[in-house]
Amino acid sequence: MYTDQPELPNRRAFFSRLAALAVAPFAFGAMQGCKNGGSGRNNSITGGMVGGGSNTGHLVRSADAIPKPTSTREVDVLIAGGGIAGLSAARWLAMNGVTNVAMIEMDSVVGGNSTYGKNKVSAYPWAAHYLPLPAVENKELLDFLGKAGVITGYKDLLPVYNEYHLCHDPEERLFINGHWQEGLIPDFGVPAADKQQIARFMEHVATLKNAKGNDGKYAFCIPVDNSSADPVYRQLDNMTMRQYLDANGYTSTYLRWYLEYCCKDDYGTVLDNTSAWAGLHYFASRKGQAHNADSTAVLAWPEGNGYLMNALKQQAATTVNANILAHRVTIEKDRVAVVCYDAVKKTSQIISAKKLLLCTPQNVNKYLLGEGYGRTDIYSAAEYAPWVVANVTVNFLPGKTKGMGLCWDNVIYGKQSVGYVNANHQNLNTPGAMVLTWYLPVVGDTPKAARKSIRNESWQEWVDYIIADLSYAHPGIDQHISNIDVRVWGHGMVQPTVGYIWGNARTLAMQPIDNKVFFAHTDLSGMSIFEEGFYQGIRAAKQIIAAS
Ligand SMILES: Cc1cc2nc3c(=O)[nH]c(=O)nc-3n(C[C@H](O)[C@H](O)[C@H](O)COP(=O)(O)OP(=O)(O)OC[C@H]3O[C@@H](n4cnc5c(N)ncnc54)[C@H](O)[C@@H]3O)c2cc1C
Repeated sequence: MYTDQPELPNRRAFFSRLAALAVAPFAFGAMQGCKNGGSGRNNSITGGMVGGGSNTGHLVRSADAIPKPTSTREVDVLIAGGGIAGLSAARWLAMNGVTNVAMIEMDSVVGGNSTYGKNKVSAYPWAAHYLPLPAVENKELLDFLGKAGVITGYKDLLPVYNEYHLCHDPEERLFINGHWQEGLIPDFGVPAADKQQIARFMEHVATLKNAKGNDGKYAFCIPVDNSSADPVYRQLDNMTMRQYLDANGYTSTYLRWYLEYCCKDDYGTVLDNTSAWAGLHYFASRKGQAHNADSTAVLAWPEGNGYLMNALKQQAATTVNANILAHRVTIEKDRVAVVCYDAVKKTSQIISAKKLLLCTPQNVNKYLLGEGYGRTDIYSAAEYAPWVVANVTVNFLPGKTKGMGLCWDNVIYGKQSVGYVNANHQNLNTPGAMVLTWYLPVVGDTPKAARKSIRNESWQEWVDYIIADLSYAHPGIDQHISNIDVRVWGHGMVQPTVGYIWGNARTLAMQPIDNKVFFAHTDLSGMSIFEEGFYQGIRAAKQIIAAS
């Protein structure tokens, strides 16, 4: 969390406030001087906590938490985990003629962090909500987007994107100094000296965008693995983003707030625990091009990346066995035996596969595989940011109207949350009512401490917190909210902490065990974005095909 700024509460204060919610539900609203977060607020709001997957997932922690298996089923390839990486792998295997593939997913639906929901007003994302335009060199991703109807053709060798999927204007606004300004880079009321530093930083990262290392590769690339190995750039992974800013004279409070917002938004990290390489990658890696859009354009859908997830699922044409948890893995002479638990029937089965692809995060793999197999380093290196996401249905959005009107992405300067996205933004006939998807990366002294701080929060307490947060720019909003559903992601996304991306543990963790157990997940890239999940799935599928 960025703590230099006077009006921001410090980390400890934030967590004691979160903790205080457990005993004093209206404390936060009162502390913010916000009537609407207090006891006079609208009590007719419906909703609840969403996502029961974690209860099933926690069963992996104990060896005897599930009944003994009573049957065995054989397949050629078993994919465990139906997130973007798993679906991408399934698609690649199908495209390359590998049949007899089964996929198991512990949740009741596939998609992982790219799942979505729907109510009478709109579809809405439960986490991942957009994809920046990919670089034209990323042929595999462009091919997928073409088949998914996101790219409609090519002109002058550049992709033409479906106008319905390009995020419509106005895209982004920031509530700062009592005013909604266009764009997220602080500008309104920002002193000239700060503006100069912001401009200097932006010029620097614009240069880094085209920088190449001594191996001729881009310094910062997507997928991460295609980035240059030149130590001049890779050494940036050995310092924090804050150290990098200190060393380069970037002292502006406004610049640092903005950079911390970016780290929180994409990585769930703060300046103090983001690798400087990752912090710069955020700005320097995006090299998207389109015939009909700016390079900075993004692709968005009401259901967020649920659109891309459904397209992957369709192209994969693999049967997904939902509510099935991979519980333990045993590597045998010629096969791999996976004990699987059916969370609906409450029975267990062994699925025996020639090849197993674990598209599960490493914090789960450590239980599935147990210690050994040279993977201990990745288990201790991988840290995951907890997130809270809420979908807030409103019939009207009150608030200070000074400046820019409602955008797709709406951020409030100086808040712990990273704002909200209007899920209805891409709808051409926007109804009066809309769904706002609100995002809170929970940061603490450690991710574990952050997770602990929110473990026992009730729906009512989250509702009070969310209303207090939104009321800052939208006083009286609670009177217009009909429903709030809340989802907590305990291990939301891998954090690109210092040394993780270019450390040995990550590279080793991508290697298969005995050509029988393979791995794919965004945590093997060190940053959790769609493009990396897509890439990891294909990378692992290619390993499987090569080993068959
Ligand atoms: C709040 C939030 C916002 C985000 N926003 C964006 C965004 O806007 N754009 C973007 O590109 N990315 C975003 N992301 C990142 C997102 O995580 C990735 O884009 C992508 O969805 C990750 O895919 P994955 O396959 O690596 O992992 P996961 O989504 O973690 O998939 C792993 C799957 O494995 C399943 N699983 C776990 N254990 C087991 C088991 N034992 N047995 C069976 N199944 C199991 C899980 O249920 C899950 O479905 C966001 C993430 C979060 C948390």
